[in-house]
Amino acid sequence: MPVTSASSPSAATAVPQDFGALLREDPEIAGVLAGEAHRQAHTLQLTAAENFVSPAVLAALGSPLANKYAEGYPGARHHGGCEQADAAERIAVRRATALFGAEHANVQPHSGSSAVLAAYAALLRPGDTVLAMGLPYGGHLTHGSPANFSGRWFEFIGYGVDPESGLIDYDQVRALALAHRPKAVVSGSISYPRHIDHARFREICDEAGAFLIADAAHPMGLIAGGAAPNPVPYADVVCATTHKVLRGPRGGMLLCGADLAERIDRAVFPFTQGGAQMHTVAAKAVAFGEAAAPSFAAYAHRVVAHARVLAAGLEAEGFEIVTGGTDTHLIVADPAPLGADGPEARARLAGAGMVLDTCALPYGNARGIRLGTAALTTQGMDDADMARLAVLIGSAVRGEGDAGAEVREMAEAHPPYPG
Ligand SMILES: *Cc1c(COP(=O)(O)O)cnc(C)c1O
Repeated sequence: MPVTSASSPSAATAVPQDFGALLREDPEIAGVLAGEAHRQAHTLQLTAAENFVSPAVLAALGSPLANKYAEGYPGARHHGGCEQADAAERIAVRRATALFGAEHANVQPHSGSSAVLAAYAALLRPGDTVLAMGLPYGGHLTHGSPANFSGRWFEFIGYGVDPESGLIDYDQVRALALAHRPKAVVSGSISYPRHIDHARFREICDEAGAFLIADAAHPMGLIAGGAAPNPVPYADVVCATTHKVLRGPRGGMLLCGADLAERIDRAVFPFTQGGAQMHTVAAKAVAFGEAAAPSFAAYAHRVVAHARVLAAGLEAEGFEIVTGGTDTHLIVADPAPLGADGPEARARLAGAGMVLDTCALPYGNARGIRLGTAALTTQGMDDADMARLAVLIGSAVRGEGDAGAEVREMAEAHPPYPG
């Protein structure tokens, strides 16, 4: 079990919100939320897809825009009283297009998966062939899983990574694209730790006559901060989440050129969604504003620097690091040399207060672990913390000593919501 015992969660746990009303009205749920705030503040969040949003983003999420119905788009709504909702969405769109250099942004997708669904709806018909990274190599559920709409409604062909280097084999992608002539090629992954060569993907798509859909859900925050290459100039459509490194509310986003703007907008509403969540749209606007600040670019570069230090430390501890390192916030490590598989390593780390996911490895069937540095960096940790954390991860996975006490100290020294 994760370490959660020393002090009991209460409304006094540092969270930037007033739990007073909730405590009075619904102590049962107030207790759950306080427990979660306590968990986040006293354990380390190494889940590569997570981060800590700012108090300003939380304030927008908890605002009365949560009450507002706003089907449609600014200036063309199916509901009355949308003046402020329109203003929020226009600001979010303006900030998103400026931040990523896109001609058009749709900020309504409820999630990353909803954004991908809408991108497919805009460009494809059921039965079309799509080339995407295979799930065993790090493709997302929406990249052709039989358990997902994508695998049911489209013919997915999977590309892999080189089993030795762990890197995308662009010659294989090209060969598959020319052999299968897909309607679209999807770049992007849930666990690829290296930069993606967007120009190469564009070249392949031009040669094969395919749309390029860049699913940049993971690195979108790095892209905002100039710490990863931007797919916008190359892809027909860019799909993203707003809640990973980008540090906004849980949600999705689509970027495209003016030529596809209307198709994308109609694919979101009314084709795949109803009313937008306007409090989330406002919170996305806040996050885009934060991500445009020079301090966010510094943050994004720090996230990558921290991941490199952590990866080097883990390698020194004996982990096999997929691709030998990272260009991003994300590390994939095989704990086998330390005597554990991915699920065992995850359980041992959870026991010491370190929270992360298992993940596919590019070779064999065993699972590894996936770690990220976005949340730790938001908390203000530095290179020395990363180096120390690698040692703690090593000893916890080997089952030596008690890393838990020191992990807890590290977490408490860097509260996600100080004060
Ligand atoms: C996270 C992610 C998604 C889906 O995001 P959700 O908000 O969980 O639906 C889609 N594609 C990729 C590559 C992702 O990493």
